[in-house]
Amino acid sequence: MTKFKNITKNGFICRNCINRLYGARLERTDCIYDEPYPRKCARCGEMRNIVTGLTLGGKIKLIGKSVIKE
Ligand SMILES: [Zn+2]
Repeated sequence: MTKFKNITKNGFICRNCINRLYGARLERTDCIYDEPYPRKCARCGEMRNIVTGLTLGGKIKLIGKSVIKE
C-alpha cells in the first residue's frame, strides 16, 4: 500500500507503466480509475487512463515486487 504511493509521487501514471516499473502483470480490473477519461501519463507521456488506486487483488500482485531501475 505504501509502495503504491511511491509510484505516484511524480504524478499519476498508467497501468502499462506500473507493470513495467514493477515487472508486474496488473490487469485492468486490478486497478482503480477515478476518472473515466484518459489523461497524460506522467511517465510515458501518452494519453491513457490513469491509475489512481489498486484493488485488493492488485495490491496482492505487487507484494514483494520492487521498482525495477531503468
Ligand atoms: Zn504511462
